Formats: sequence, structure tokens, C-alpha cells
Amino acid sequence: MNVRPKKRLGQNFLVDKNIQKKIVRACEFKDSDIVLEIGSGYGELTKLLAGIVHQVFAVEIDPFLCESSKDNLKDFSNSRIINQDILKFDLKKYFHETEQKIKVIGNIPYYISSPIIEHLIKFKDKIDNIFITTQKEFALRMSANPGSKEYGSFSLFTQYYTEPKILFLIKKLSFYPAPKIDSALINMKVRQEPIVKVKDEKLFFKITRSAFNQRRKTLRNSLSNIIPARKLEQFFSEYGIPCNIRPEDLSLQDFANLTNT
Ligand code: SAM
Repeated sequence: MNVRPKKRLGQNFLVDKNIQKKIVRACEFKDSDIVLEIGSGYGELTKLLAGIVHQVFAVEIDPFLCESSKDNLKDFSNSRIINQDILKFDLKKYFHETEQKIKVIGNIPYYISSPIIEHLIKFKDKIDNIFITTQKEFALRMSANPGSKEYGSFSLFTQYYTEPKILFLIKKLSFYPAPKIDSALINMKVRQEPIVKVKDEKLFFKITRSAFNQRRKTLRNSLSNIIPARKLEQFFSEYGIPCNIRPEDLSLQDFANLTNT
């Protein structure tokens, strides 16, 4: 490493070359793919990608790292480093000339993990697959099933739009500097259509967020401010759900039914 990694930018570089290759292999990219990389750092992963896909665009916020990766990628004319904040990067505008859907990859900075996923979902019509290296706990939250302690409103948000699947875990010592906890590579195939039919998406996410605000409460108590009691009773009896149920025991389909009721 030439300079001290910037903690405030979540710079934990993946230095284990075998894991870099394992990640790229696991993504099964094709030579026709257009790939967007988030946070390219020194461009190590970018270089591996540039060797196998049609085009790689890497968005990196740190101007110093942009210069280093440009140098690292000088032999690859199919790569471009973009010095920008990923949260301000408009995929629709940037890729407006191509009909082809984009694949996204990134060893993402932990301090903005959720905002990055939310930002990508805004452009879901442009993306068909996402491969993210992130903290293990965050990956577990996104892929969690009802009944587990990781299951919450962010699991529902992610699973509504994508099919999250943890591909493998990555030891913290594979990074420099080593973070406090292990990471995971998670694949999130973007759904063409949401997995459940919801009449009002805004209401659906309002309900899921409120339901998990105080997860120890029963659903009836946590939603009392936003759903009239008689509507909740109607939902419980129509779907045969016990009225003392807790939010973590309701599936995505149950929350969709509740919203539609
Ligand atoms: N891809 C490199 C690797 O695997 O070693 C670096 C990964 S490091 C965990 C995260 C990278 O994201 C850093 O290079 C950091 O500068 C960059 N980054 C942080 N915040 C960003 C943002 N808002 N937009 C784009 N890149 C960002």
C-alpha cells in the first residue's frame, strides 16, 4: 500500500489475490457483459474483470485511488475509472446508450452499505445482477428468513426486489487493514417483477419499517398507529394468523397480504 488507507471512506482493501480470483470466478461473467464496479480502490479487481468482460466502469470517490487505478489499468482500453460518489452516480443517465443490462460488483465501503443497495434498487430496470462483498452480518440480514434474528425490514426490502444468496464467507485477514468482522460475497439477482404483488409499495415499506421498529412488540402494537384495529383483525382472521404474532414471524407474502388488506 502506498498511502495510509482512509478509514472514513471504508478503505479495507482485499489483498488476498486468491480471494480476488475466487470472487471473479463466482460471478460467472461473460465476455459480452458490461460491469459497473463500486469502489475500485487500486483497481486490482478491476484489472481481473477487464481481462474477461466486454467493458468495466469503476466508480471510485478517492481521486488518489482513481489515478493509481488508471495507471494499473493502462493496458485495458475496455476499462474506465470514474471519480464520483456512487450515491450520486446516475446509472440511467450514464448507461443511456445501451439497452443491455448492467452487472454490478463491489467490495463496498461498510459505512454506506444500506444506502448503496437502496441506490442500486432505484436503477433496478438497468441492472440484472449484483455481487457485493460486505460485512457478514449485513449479508445475513439481507438474505435472512422469517423467524431468524437477522430478519427485519431490510431483509424484506432486499428480497422484494432481488434474490439474495450468500456465495461464500471471506476471512477478515484477507483485507488490509483487517476489519473487525468477517465478510461475505452476496449475489443479488434483480427480479424482473417483485416476488409478491403489492397494491401500494409506499405503504408496504411503511408497514414493514414500522413493524420492525420495536421488534419485541407484537404486530398489533407496533402497527397500531398506522393501521386501524379493525383492519388488522380482518387480516388476522382472513389469513388465519394468530393475533399475538410478532413481526419476525411474518413472511414477505404475509406483509403483502396485510398491505393489500
Ligand atoms: N475494490 C477495492 C478492493 O477490493 O480492495 C477497494 C474496496 S474498499 C472496501 C472500498 C472502496 O470504496 C475504497 O476504495 C473507497 O475509497 C471507495 N469508496 C468509499 N466511499 C465511496 C463512495 N461514496 N463512492 C465511491 N467509492 C467509494
